[in-house]
Amino acid sequence: MKTIYAEMTEDRIDGDAIAEAGRILREGGLVAFPTETVYGLGGDALNPASSRKIYEAKGRPSDNPLIVHICEAEALRGIADDIPQEAWKLAEAFWPGPLTMILKKKASVPAETTGGLNTVAVRFPSNRIAQELIRAGGGYIAAPSANRSGRPSPTIARYCREDLDGRVEMIIDGGEVGIGLESTIIDLSELPEKAPMILRPGRITQDMLQSVLGEVGQDPGMLGMDAAAPPKAPGMKYRHYAPKGILTIVEGRREAVIRYINEQTERCGGAGRKTGVICTDETVGAYQADVVRSAGSRADEETVAHSLFRILREFDEEGAEVLFSESFADGSFEQDAAEGIGQAIMNRLIKAAGHRVVKV
Ligand code: AMP
Ligand code: MG
Repeated sequence: MKTIYAEMTEDRIDGDAIAEAGRILREGGLVAFPTETVYGLGGDALNPASSRKIYEAKGRPSDNPLIVHICEAEALRGIADDIPQEAWKLAEAFWPGPLTMILKKKASVPAETTGGLNTVAVRFPSNRIAQELIRAGGGYIAAPSANRSGRPSPTIARYCREDLDGRVEMIIDGGEVGIGLESTIIDLSELPEKAPMILRPGRITQDMLQSVLGEVGQDPGMLGMDAAAPPKAPGMKYRHYAPKGILTIVEGRREAVIRYINEQTERCGGAGRKTGVICTDETVGAYQADVVRSAGSRADEETVAHSLFRILREFDEEGAEVLFSESFADGSFEQDAAEGIGQAIMNRLIKAAGHRVVKV
């Protein structure tokens, strides 16, 4: 298949390209497109054949459910049953935006889209290109991240091209995404018996959700630190976001972390292996590895979230084989437990590292 490319910005949307993308989606084809979180790989969520194609293009296991993207909150009624008041409150507070809600599904949503579950994941993105595309495609677009399964989620269109060229009908280049990590996922499907629960951390934090709903729980397996508590969101069990090199997270006080990483990279470098380090603006001058990348400042962790997936891909481009990252978790660098978007960063980093964490 020859992939069509289109370029536009949120301020200058190319109506013809959107119309063509909409036609492709309605005919059962696939279109990669920008959202405010990461690039998505879109297909008609109500067409089982489209969902099957998404799994095939990504090489993703088909029991890993897809998120359905809508372009107005009211569209919830078309795919979800018994919608609780809490869902409308969250929609009012955070939509359009980086929040996905799990609700009971209507029969109209095919099992292929939900990985066989009787619930459906729904999000209304704020990116205007995404909104126009969803409208043109019929209003319900299933869209996982637009990467091959297991690779870091794409934050620019070139990464979609690297993973999906020739596997999808169209890729829309809308520039670099803003947030850089996937949406927060909250499960509302067990209300009123069970309180809402966060299944995946993201830009919308537990505090923000609690300010609207009161008590909101967290899936104990969510941070991936506890092997005894498997995550509740189905896809979380798969290897994710992984660079080609072997990544280890190093936790501890600042000086000990720097010393350990420098010892390791010097040893590996001596053995002829190319090394890489993910650090922060505060420490970037302290490392001697072949490829040293600051993800941003600890004082503003949103910068770290924004850069993380790009840096993981850059290590691959540089051919770095042995990788280390500073931790953003509990106690490291004498800071408080990971909270806010720090949790989302650690959740992705731990998966990228295949749970390899060293405490020094
Ligand atoms: P993404 O990789 O951003 O497309 O996110 C898809 C993830 O959303 C899946 O891997 C699941 O973890 C989660 N998800 C989607 N649908 C459901 C659902 N019905 N119940 C629980 N988690 C879901
Ligand atoms: Mg993904």
